[in-house]
Amino acid sequence: MQYQRSSKLFAEAEKVIPGGVNSPVRAFKGVGGTPIFVKSAKGAYLYDEDGNKLIDYINSWGPMILGHAHEPVIQAITERAKLGTSFGMPTELETQIAELAVSMVPNIDKIRFVNSGTEACMSAIRLARGFTKRDKIIKFAGCYHGHSDSFLIQAGSGASTFGMPNSPGVTQGTAKDTLLAQYNNLENVRELFENNKNEIAAIIIEPVAGNMGCIPPKKGFLEGLRDLCYENDTLLIFDEVMTGFRLAKGGAQELYNIDADIVCFGKVIGGGLPVGAFAARSEIMNYLAPLGPVYQAGTLSGNPLAMAAGLAMLSELNTDSEIFKRLDEKTAYLENGIRQVLLQNKVVFTINRVGSMISVHFNETPVIDFETAKGGDNERFKKFFHGLLQEGIYIAPSAYETWFITDALTYDDLDLTIKAIEKVSRNL
Ligand SMILES: *Cc1c(COP(=O)(O)O)cnc(C)c1O
Repeated sequence: MQYQRSSKLFAEAEKVIPGGVNSPVRAFKGVGGTPIFVKSAKGAYLYDEDGNKLIDYINSWGPMILGHAHEPVIQAITERAKLGTSFGMPTELETQIAELAVSMVPNIDKIRFVNSGTEACMSAIRLARGFTKRDKIIKFAGCYHGHSDSFLIQAGSGASTFGMPNSPGVTQGTAKDTLLAQYNNLENVRELFENNKNEIAAIIIEPVAGNMGCIPPKKGFLEGLRDLCYENDTLLIFDEVMTGFRLAKGGAQELYNIDADIVCFGKVIGGGLPVGAFAARSEIMNYLAPLGPVYQAGTLSGNPLAMAAGLAMLSELNTDSEIFKRLDEKTAYLENGIRQVLLQNKVVFTINRVGSMISVHFNETPVIDFETAKGGDNERFKKFFHGLLQEGIYIAPSAYETWFITDALTYDDLDLTIKAIEKVSRNL
């Protein structure tokens, strides 16, 4: 692999952008070395500034579920751009994507579009607090809900990679309203309810955690949270920014058959453009301005280019009845392949997977929460990451990330990947 041009571009970027990047995990701090600068991408592949071709297992951290530069999405954006790129006025397009999303996702009557997953989660808890007239929320260690203040408390992912579970700049006043529980630990949540009677507005959770690697909910865990929320008049917020339109048409709610009160979206819903959304039944959504008292707004919210991309993406996912099954099968094939080669080479590992979310952990014990996720062998992960990069395979540059499988990957791509992992695992 050649890195000269990426190195040069990174050095230039560092002079004018903090750390050379606009989002920390891109900087390779968790694995060392120089970030790869992308020139273009198509289908399952990235093409970088040095002329390398990489098989991509990040896919913009999830959105490109049908592969890069997917034709119907690109076409929708291009055609829409000719009509003007932003008005700050309503368009029919917004109703079209809202209708489609509401038809695909269970338990929601209305949806509001914002510009990122961060905004979606931030607005969702404000809405939950306004609706319940309570201040506190419960979040789980290692779950990431964007970088708004209330959530930067053991936030997994980027925040974990850098060992900054609590960011400076978040006030004590804000932090005290975020109660922390262990993922997959129902007893923990029950205690928080007992000690904070009638004070908890909402539980926010990634129904399948994806920001400490992929961690599935234990059987009964989500059901237990649902019951506790009913008992305590607390809202259950599913942060489906990662799982939404990925694990099923209706996301984790559909997959596990659990009703959330508010659902947050991002990533896939924008088809690769900056989109987030939050949704709920009318009773809750009608609390939002201009109907209700909870304020929330956005100059570029519902932007026509973003809505066109999102609509094209959701339409494809809605009409292709085999898509989620196909993604699951491809990812299962990859999982089995990786298991075999790691076993052959006597590497200690755990693989977690739900549908097209998968992560490999160099742990001796099962990875079920943030504590166990942190127990992985990071040095081994670094070798694994750089070894794969040399073989033209691009996985996330952090041990705390899920791999995102795209439908553009062929079985040949998967075989090449398994072969590369075989080779790399001989020297782990
Ligand atoms: C990515 C992510 C977010 C934040 O979304 P941004 O668009 O990066 O602001 C929130 N929640 C989850 C579960 C995510 O994976």
